[in-house]
Amino acid sequence: MEPGEEMKEAGLENAEHVLVDLAKGRGIHLLEASTPVPGLKVNIYFVERPVPTLIDAPMKGALCLAGLNGQLQPLGYSLDDIEVIIVTHPHIDHFGAAADIAEMSGAQVWATENTARWLENYDDECLEEERFQKTFLDRAGVPADLVAHVGRYFQYLKKFACPVRVSRLLEVGEVVELASGRFRLEHVPGHTPWCVMMVDDREKIAFTGDFLLKDISSNPLAQRPSKLPAGYRSLEAYASSLRRVAAMGLALALPGHGEMMRNPRKRVAALLGFMNARTGQVADIFGTRPDLTIYEIVEEVFPGLPRDEIFLAVSEVFAHLDLLEGNGIVLRTDEGIPSRYTLCR
Ligand SMILES: [Zn+2]
Repeated sequence: MEPGEEMKEAGLENAEHVLVDLAKGRGIHLLEASTPVPGLKVNIYFVERPVPTLIDAPMKGALCLAGLNGQLQPLGYSLDDIEVIIVTHPHIDHFGAAADIAEMSGAQVWATENTARWLENYDDECLEEERFQKTFLDRAGVPADLVAHVGRYFQYLKKFACPVRVSRLLEVGEVVELASGRFRLEHVPGHTPWCVMMVDDREKIAFTGDFLLKDISSNPLAQRPSKLPAGYRSLEAYASSLRRVAAMGLALALPGHGEMMRNPRKRVAALLGFMNARTGQVADIFGTRPDLTIYEIVEEVFPGLPRDEIFLAVSEVFAHLDLLEGNGIVLRTDEGIPSRYTLCR
């Protein structure tokens, strides 16, 4: 019997109960942080031992920090007690308030070198990123008014984080003692090229960050070509990370958003299936009309797309074309920031 089935029989359907059983008893607590993005909450994990530690930090904002403090108090702690903040990947919903928490508590921030580069140079990275997003969307055929909207939205969101000094650089493969377990840092590129998750191989529990979520397929965000490892294709990397994680036989995944996942192998299989179907959909659209721009494909794949999600959607269609290029089905016809493709004959 799988561990998940056993709990189902015991009537523990609710993920919170799973957490109570498998994680809370070991001193791992889920804190939920709000964000300025409607409907988006972030999971922050508070680990009591060996020192009070947060896995990821919420976005910057007094209300958000007060909310987190309110959840720590019944556990006998406050944000002032935090000694370590471990950041899984360099997105603002996972590190935005790290500097504020570090300032009030003296906490150290730990991250891998690539993530640290973003965290420490946040202002410069934002400038470069904003320029990249504008060019990427222009070249993808997004209308100028929508590109301008994405720029304004970026300006709005970037205020919810600030630079933070990283005290300790973590290495992939390194083991961190947490909650009486030994959590190994596993590199799981895909959502970003720099995502890591932390795996307790003995207890089969992992903090998965945004690499593995229950209700959302982690979006492969387009990145500046200069930031990417040579030959990197986000969906190839994502699929390969997913297969590697499926083989770990995890009992419980603790994600960066949404519910915990018991026996996440099923979720991994569903994500791989979803990814294949979406690649097929993009291949079908482009196969019959190879003159379409990336944005015209986006309009077919995501009808009625909210304006705030344009960069995510264009990133996703680009990622599938990029995967199709890796599979020898399409060919890029431009240089620099990718935008034009043709069918391979
Ligand atoms: Zn996130």
